[in-house]
Amino acid sequence: MPAGNQLTLFTVRGIRIGVDYSWFFVLFVLIIYLSGVYRDVLSADGGESQPYLLAVITALGFFGSILLHELGHAVVATRNGIPISEITLWLFGGVARMTRDSDAPGTEFKVAIAGPIVTLLLALACTGLGIALSGADEFWRAVTVEEDTAISGALAVLSWLASINVLVLVFNLIPAFPLDGGRVARAIAWKVTGNRNRATRFAALVGQGFSYAFIALGLLWLLAGNVIGGIWLALIGFILAQSARGSAMQSKFSSRIEGISVADVMDAEPVAIRESTSVERAIDEYFLRYRWPWFPVVDGADRFRGLLVREAADAVPEPSRAQQTVGEVFEVDASGTLKVRDDAPLESLLGNDALRRLGGLAAVDADGRLRGVITADQVGRALRSAVSSG
Ligand SMILES: [Zn+2]
Repeated sequence: MPAGNQLTLFTVRGIRIGVDYSWFFVLFVLIIYLSGVYRDVLSADGGESQPYLLAVITALGFFGSILLHELGHAVVATRNGIPISEITLWLFGGVARMTRDSDAPGTEFKVAIAGPIVTLLLALACTGLGIALSGADEFWRAVTVEEDTAISGALAVLSWLASINVLVLVFNLIPAFPLDGGRVARAIAWKVTGNRNRATRFAALVGQGFSYAFIALGLLWLLAGNVIGGIWLALIGFILAQSARGSAMQSKFSSRIEGISVADVMDAEPVAIRESTSVERAIDEYFLRYRWPWFPVVDGADRFRGLLVREAADAVPEPSRAQQTVGEVFEVDASGTLKVRDDAPLESLLGNDALRRLGGLAAVDADGRLRGVITADQVGRALRSAVSSG
């Protein structure tokens, strides 16, 4: 998966859209390659710079297609209560980073299939536009790049984008975890067996099978003379094999901590601040006394509302601290990412962004009442003892 070298492009609805530097390499090669292709197939009246210009437009269209695919995953995940923190584009496409794993096979299925559906719609849209522009026969000739074709620039762009989206669709539907098709396979296995970890191991095994097949095919292709295609395929196989092995190891680990819930590990006597407390009291009786960086904030019925961080309390000017209440300055947990259900399995906290960032989360019951605080240290200790006892 993409390493740390990223550039943030922009943010959509709280989702950071970033590109790995390897992505610029993809765009660069694509523009060079497409300029060459377009130079051969375009009717000659567009001038010297036209193929290059169209290649840039096509590359941006490809970029947009991959981004929309990932946003498809992101929108469905968010609707199902799994916020997405970032989308990264890299050498082999895009990755939407979920802040936690899905907790039901139905959710997993919907999130996994959303991306391919977007890609299918994009392929259909490009095909429809291309056919509307120049008729089905001409469009098909553009897709297959027949000899002596002289096509318009718009048709060249649309036919290439239609083809690449079909390719992206087929590739993503290969049932090799963690590709989308593999996630769909895992969701089905999860539904059938009722056990997420067994389903992950199954999907990872299938994924490993496919990855070895990719490597073998890539090497054969390489020997047959297609150097770039062969290396590309073998490299994808290698990365898939790594990811599948990682998933298998993680699920083996997860099955050891099955049955441990947040409530088993958390601090069940949390110190919380009421919304109605004055900022002055919050500082004197909580921050100065316990020296923690933040406290959970509850309403009159002990329901968890958000966090008060030390900086927010300190930022209130001293003369108004007695009048201002905590309710006016605390960070409301609008997205629900700062809390976790106390009966949730401990493994649902693995890879939880907020836990890593804050060092702890509020644990609440079914009615949203604060039952405890669980810290990253407590989670770490529980995991270590589960592993050493296993
Ligand atoms: Zn996808």
